Amino acid sequence: MVQETPDLSPVSALRKEVLDFEPYSAGLSIEEIQARYGLASVIKLASNENPLGTSPLVQKRLRAKADAVFRYPKPDTPTLTRAIAARVQVEPERIVVGNGSDEIIDLLIRVRATPGRDRVLAFQPSFSMYRLQTRMQGAEFVTVPLEDDLSLNMDKLVSRVDASTAVVFVTTPDNPSGHATPREEILRLARELPPTCLLVVDEAYVDFADPVEAHTLLPFVERHRNLVVLRTFSKAYGLAGLRLGFGVMDPELADYLWRVRLPFSVSILAETAGVAALEDLTFYNATLDTVRQGRVFLAEALASLGCRPRPSQANFLLFRLPDYCALAARAVFERLLAQGIIIRPLDSYGLPDCLRVSIGTETENRAFIQALERVLGEAHTAGPHADSSLGAHDSTPRENEGG
Ligand SMILES: *Cc1c(COP(=O)(O)O)cnc(C)c1O
Repeated sequence: MVQETPDLSPVSALRKEVLDFEPYSAGLSIEEIQARYGLASVIKLASNENPLGTSPLVQKRLRAKADAVFRYPKPDTPTLTRAIAARVQVEPERIVVGNGSDEIIDLLIRVRATPGRDRVLAFQPSFSMYRLQTRMQGAEFVTVPLEDDLSLNMDKLVSRVDASTAVVFVTTPDNPSGHATPREEILRLARELPPTCLLVVDEAYVDFADPVEAHTLLPFVERHRNLVVLRTFSKAYGLAGLRLGFGVMDPELADYLWRVRLPFSVSILAETAGVAALEDLTFYNATLDTVRQGRVFLAEALASLGCRPRPSQANFLLFRLPDYCALAARAVFERLLAQGIIIRPLDSYGLPDCLRVSIGTETENRAFIQALERVLGEAHTAGPHADSSLGAHDSTPRENEGG
């Protein structure tokens, strides 16, 4: 018998990218918090999920489809692709559907970034999937810091582009700030990038922007062949748990993504749900109304408590604590947890002084404000809160934004 040594373990031979990988870690679940604090009910405003839940039409169609799941789905999800094309008014050949927009992010990096040679460029902080999948691919991830007000400076981004830049990611409205970059600035970036460099505009939250038509880059995909627009069903369509997203891009590029994509990554149920979600305009419009009204209510309520919410075009608000609050943001987050309210601390984004709250229903929003008022009341002591700049700091992300 050969003696087992650490050198001979199969794990020691894994790819370096795998051994070094820091996996995505989602936010806390409702069940975890209920168990930890012995709470009967918990309000989760941490992952930017749909405040109205799941469309009733989607639920009905899913139930009806349950007896068909022994079949393989059609590999190119034709019904859903056509339904999306009709909704966003582009040719179906431009659309690639995936297991969440996460899959499209991964595919774009994999088809374009050559390991050991190419670079992927994004802002810091930004959605961690860009970094994780770039590193997994063995490409270098390069970041440009956000401005102090958390806006995105396209000139600074362009100054970091060179011949090795394969993909550039821009999120608008951005997560976690909610900041919407003026469309002209993104179009200027599209013109300034080399035509072989993909510009991926992640519009996960664009449905909530007011108005969508003034913010989306979709009408420009035809004109700029390197421009890719990402959308998701996880937020405004309430399907985060089903995993469905899509990209709109040059038809030839789309064809290559379809070729290398795992053939059945979008399940029969996800396709059914996606088609139904696009049909149910009543639910979609109710979601937008709830979010836009809740956003105004929460921004005003936070401001009246002395917090400073950042203007947002998304379904969440980033805010800082008032100067009178002697507690750190992390501690406020923990105290809210104990009261059954889950929001999102932003240490992992390098923003330890900020918190992010998803817009909920009217009841949830009021419960959150009441709980926060209680926590701030207890924290109302002398001595101003240290460091009041809204700066973006570099840090190694630990926990994730969870959609
Ligand atoms: C939530 C979110 C997505 C959506 O991801 P899915 O895989 O479609 O659930 C994409 N990008 C950003 C920036 C997000 O916050």
